[in-house]
Amino acid sequence: MTEKKKELMNDDEADEILRLMKEDIVLLGRKMTKDYSIGDYIVRAIDNVSIEIKNGEFIVIMGPSGAGKTTLLNLLGGLDSLNENGGVIYSHGVKISDMEEESLATFRLINSGFIFQNYNLISTLTAEENVMFPMNLSGMRFNESRERAVKLLKKIGLQERREHLPFQLSAGEQQRVAIARALAVDPPVIFADEPTANLDKKTSNFIRDLFKDLKDLGKTMIIATHDDKLIDLADRVISFEDAKIINEEINVSNK
Ligand code: ADP
Ligand code: MG
Repeated sequence: MTEKKKELMNDDEADEILRLMKEDIVLLGRKMTKDYSIGDYIVRAIDNVSIEIKNGEFIVIMGPSGAGKTTLLNLLGGLDSLNENGGVIYSHGVKISDMEEESLATFRLINSGFIFQNYNLISTLTAEENVMFPMNLSGMRFNESRERAVKLLKKIGLQERREHLPFQLSAGEQQRVAIARALAVDPPVIFADEPTANLDKKTSNFIRDLFKDLKDLGKTMIIATHDDKLIDLADRVISFEDAKIINEEINVSNK
């Protein structure tokens, strides 16, 4: 960090960022709180939660429906924002909890790949175009992004389905396309929200093997899941209940 940059922030913040860099922490959430309001009713989805995630860690987040798992992933990935004065989030040494949406969108594009429970493919784009989408946003040239999309579709075994629209693909195929899209710009962190929840065994096994490869490549993986096959890959399993972390287990055999 330059001295000039250091002058622009207070000492505590500069020390914090130095610590994150020294300890290779890619994500830090401190005292995070998130409420949703529906009319007069307020739901506390995340209640004063702190978490640190190191580069290359494979984290599984478990917990009953409504516990706050999706909200946690969305906050850490910068898809959703904390309450005002609801804590801080650093990603790759950058305080994303203070960022404006426009810069946050660019930051997300480069740093995080998202895999959602319901795939979230763009319904009017083909499989190939869905995979190309983040690359085009990132400014990659058309031919290059198409070449890479073809490679990724091949990797997930769907090269023959390039021209298919999402509704012409099975659930498992859609999720595989969504995974290819998440890998499109080769982001260092992958978030996946119950990625195998609605899928057949064969696709779940395929995803498990792919996630194992990503782990071996040194990607940081943050997965909300109850799937034993994915839990087996975890370095750390965090249990979530009623908007709080209630337990944390380190899986020594995976370290
Ligand atoms: P999980 O993924 O563990 O099932 P969520 O993070 O989706 O849990 O939800 C946590 C709580 O926040 C739930 O009570 C849920 O109803 C509420 N919630 C989540 N998203 C919203 C939203 N957009 N608007 C209102 N309430 C929400
Ligand atoms: Mg959820």
